[in-house]
Amino acid sequence: MQMSFSVRRTAWVVGYLLFILAPIFVMLTGTAEPARDFWTELSVAFGYAGLSMMGLQFGVTSRFRWVTEPWGEDVIYHFHRQISLIAVTLVLLHPAILFVTRPDLLSLLNVVDAPWRARFALLSVLALLVLVVTALWRVRLRLSYEVWHRLHIALAVTAVSAGVLHMIGWGFYLTDAWSRALWIGLIALWVAVLLYVRIVKPLFLIRRPYQVSEVRPERGETTTLVLDPVGHDGFRFQPGQFGWITVWRSPFTISAQPFSFSSSAEATGGRVEMSIRNLGDFTSSVPGIPVGKRVYLDGPYGAFTMGNPADMHVLVAGGIGITPMMSMLRTLADRGDRRPVMLLYGAKDWQSITFREELEELTGRLDLTTVYVLEDPPANWQGERGFINAEIFQRHLTPPYAEHEYFICGPEPMMDAVESALAELKVPKSKYHSERYSFL
Ligand SMILES: Cc1cc2nc3c(=O)[nH]c(=O)nc-3n(C[C@H](O)[C@H](O)[C@H](O)COP(=O)(O)OP(=O)(O)OC[C@H]3O[C@@H](n4cnc5c(N)ncnc54)[C@H](O)[C@@H]3O)c2cc1C
Repeated sequence: MQMSFSVRRTAWVVGYLLFILAPIFVMLTGTAEPARDFWTELSVAFGYAGLSMMGLQFGVTSRFRWVTEPWGEDVIYHFHRQISLIAVTLVLLHPAILFVTRPDLLSLLNVVDAPWRARFALLSVLALLVLVVTALWRVRLRLSYEVWHRLHIALAVTAVSAGVLHMIGWGFYLTDAWSRALWIGLIALWVAVLLYVRIVKPLFLIRRPYQVSEVRPERGETTTLVLDPVGHDGFRFQPGQFGWITVWRSPFTISAQPFSFSSSAEATGGRVEMSIRNLGDFTSSVPGIPVGKRVYLDGPYGAFTMGNPADMHVLVAGGIGITPMMSMLRTLADRGDRRPVMLLYGAKDWQSITFREELEELTGRLDLTTVYVLEDPPANWQGERGFINAEIFQRHLTPPYAEHEYFICGPEPMMDAVESALAELKVPKSKYHSERYSFL
């Protein structure tokens, strides 16, 4: 598993670099017109690379399992964010270099007189700037996630389409057959990805609906949805993975939300459960979902799954980060797997510990030790208090700490603190797996 993931990661990086550098290779090796001055050529190379990186973002964020699996969804989204900033910088450098080295070109900014190809360039850059500002400061701009998501896609499509039209308008390097073939291929790929994600995939989901069979209240403002496939067998998932659910709208709208599966991967009949904490607009509507409601489920996704059975498994959960751990524990119990497991579970108080009773019951079926760490413990509390840190690991785990395998899921500050505690205990990164509930 590890080996094949590392080979796939290398193939992924090589493939990605080939895609974004291909326009420059073709530009350098093509039989096109003689090169212009150095700065103009450099600026064009930046423009080409930036545009092809932007177009490729459609593929990166399209939830293709073979793209995301070797890394995990959260890593892919962070990559998308960072690489977008590089792409935007390259695109901005393209006109910036031209304006500095050839100030006469500044007249192209006059949209009234400028040719269409220059207007498209301006439109592309403006769309990109709005895209960056709204992505970096969405919360400060008070944009709801859904509105922002739609705007983000519209701006990305506008920026890339206008960029392509600008490039075709100049057509400098497109006289060469190789360049033309490459750009036609790239553009066809981007359009195919968009059509797949926005039309083919939703159609597929509509043909494989699910029904809400039970809506179960849990401790800690959490509700479990029990979902059964209707007219199909559902899918198999690995404990720790997640799916995207669409409840109130059609899968053609951009409204799916990610939730871990909390049920056992051994459940039969394609049944899956998601346990959802009331934290905002959609999640507050979950307790009101009627039994029998038809919903759409896209999954499974994610690389946050259990590995080598010989290792001691240390599950570190904060708040609703317990859901993937619950799936792992329920699955181990159903499989009769008695590998040693330690659950370090940070919660606000004793009353809000989601799945508390079931964890007690699972202790009888597993080799499981649970350590609760309460932020606000009751007066007679003898256990751990505060937040999970290196001392708590040292008190409950047997050294050497690098020999255990760690799974971490919870709020961002907790994840950062736990990762630095593990670094303090000299646990190599290869021994811990994190699932971040924020892709942003
Ligand atoms: C891989 C993964 C697994 C998760 N598993 C669980 C789980 O098992 N149980 C649980 O309660 N929560 C889980 N979450 C968190 C959950 O997805 C968010 O809390 C939920 O989407 C918030 O939606 P809202 O409309 O209620 O809140 P809002 O107030 O509208 O949004 C709160 C924040 O949630 C995030 N968010 C909202 N919609 C989306 C979306 N469509 N895609 C990505 N992020 C979004 C945004 O950062 C937003 O700022 C998971 C998140 C991820 C990424």
